[in-house]
Amino acid sequence: MKPTPSRLAMVPFVSVENMMRLVHHIGLEKMLADLTDAVEADFARWQVFDKTPRLASHSAQGVIELMPTSDGEVYGFKYVNGHPKNTREGLQTVTAFGLLADVETGYPVLLSEMTILTALRTASTSAMAARHLAPENARVMAMIGNGAQSEFQILAMKQVVGIDTVRLYDSDPAATEKCARNLAGSGLEVVQCTSPEEAIEGAQIITTSTADKQCATILTDNMVGAGVHINAIGGDCPGKTELHRDILLRADIFVEYPPQTRIEGEIQQLPADYPVTELWQVIRGEKPGRSEARQITLFDSVGFAIEDFSALRYVREKITGTDYYQDLDMLADPDDPRDLFGMVMRARQDS
Ligand code: NAD
Repeated sequence: MKPTPSRLAMVPFVSVENMMRLVHHIGLEKMLADLTDAVEADFARWQVFDKTPRLASHSAQGVIELMPTSDGEVYGFKYVNGHPKNTREGLQTVTAFGLLADVETGYPVLLSEMTILTALRTASTSAMAARHLAPENARVMAMIGNGAQSEFQILAMKQVVGIDTVRLYDSDPAATEKCARNLAGSGLEVVQCTSPEEAIEGAQIITTSTADKQCATILTDNMVGAGVHINAIGGDCPGKTELHRDILLRADIFVEYPPQTRIEGEIQQLPADYPVTELWQVIRGEKPGRSEARQITLFDSVGFAIEDFSALRYVREKITGTDYYQDLDMLADPDDPRDLFGMVMRARQDS
């Protein structure tokens, strides 16, 4: 007879299929709003977390990263890649999975796909930043880069900030068409544009989410007028930026975790001691967000481990008592904890 693993040794696993079921069960826009609140709640208790810049392994084609953190009770990490050339081969630029563990025992308590969850949490983090930094009554958003992240970014801004119009631009018109098609029926006015200049006309929020393994200049200084809020999410690696340096010099810059953003974000173009504001301080009311109408605010987003931690904890809570997961036999669990060898040998008789 095959040994049956105990319940404790079983790890709930959320597959891509189950994540999609969960999204539809909760409702995409509701989940984006919930995740915005979940990330914000964890940013508000920033000091309790273990923080470290993510561990990146670079290659000519892309990067593979590990992103760990812990709040002392629960530990989490995400595996994520970024390979801009992948879409040409029918593969995604970004894929991810993540894990939560109980700090007390070290035992994993959740394993989950995170390609979809990353798109959701990145969009929710952008919306959280915009909630504090965008001009009041911002209604028009420009979305530059209309790939995998784009619809999520737009719908989070609709749900959390209340935009009613989005102006799309991508260097590949097929991506813009795909994005517009996916947003039909969303209640947003969707405008397809043929240049970044046209896309940012009249926009109070500009989000850049392009993928290129180089320092690109998606926005130049003369394109950006006073009073806008920019979410730059595509520049997230050394040597991979989206904004001209002069925009950074005119903007007030807000970041997640400076030791990581100084390596990976737009601010890698600036001196290492250039002043930036940490978003958690704005959320706690310790530093101002937007303080005047003509101010240019920039959220230099690179994606930080706490956002993944918040998203994984949210998923763990939501799947409890549902069938949106499978039990995974991924922990060896001998009856006598010191007799791992004996358990392996008994399996030979059973096999
Ligand atoms: P994707 O490859 O699906 O989409 C990127 C889009 O950018 C493509 O449609 C491409 O045609 C377009 N593009 C490339 N160069 C352009 C240019 N010069 N002008 C206009 N459009 C251009 O990638 P994705 O999954 O949507 O990710 C986008 C970027 O966001 C990536 O760089 C990724 O690493 C980054 N990202 C950041 C975070 C974060 O937390 N900050 C999270 C996820 C992804």
